[in-house]
Amino acid sequence: MHEMSICESVLEHIEGICARENAQKVTKVILEIGCFAGVENDALHFCFDAISNGTIAEGATLEIVDQSGSATCFECSENFTTNDRLSLCPKCGSGRIMVNGGDALRIKNLEVV
Ligand SMILES: [Zn+2]
Repeated sequence: MHEMSICESVLEHIEGICARENAQKVTKVILEIGCFAGVENDALHFCFDAISNGTIAEGATLEIVDQSGSATCFECSENFTTNDRLSLCPKCGSGRIMVNGGDALRIKNLEVV
């Protein structure tokens, strides 16, 4: 499962950060997830709870911050914000758009004690 491997690598990062900062326990993890990253937030919560069990991040609150994406229209060069790869240009209605951004998948913040 996609979300499971994401959680595994997030946890690896968390453990690395904690070792560096000499933290005893993680209380909160804030992840920034782009709208085009193809991640189900519910599944991510579920996997994180399962994976963090017995680790330094056990019981930590997982907060997910959505990052929206943007797109550029091939027809009229309009730039606009969108969370949908299949959206139409708001200016000329064209479907020929190129999305960019919105692919973040990173630890935005970590609260430790
Ligand atoms: Zn357009």
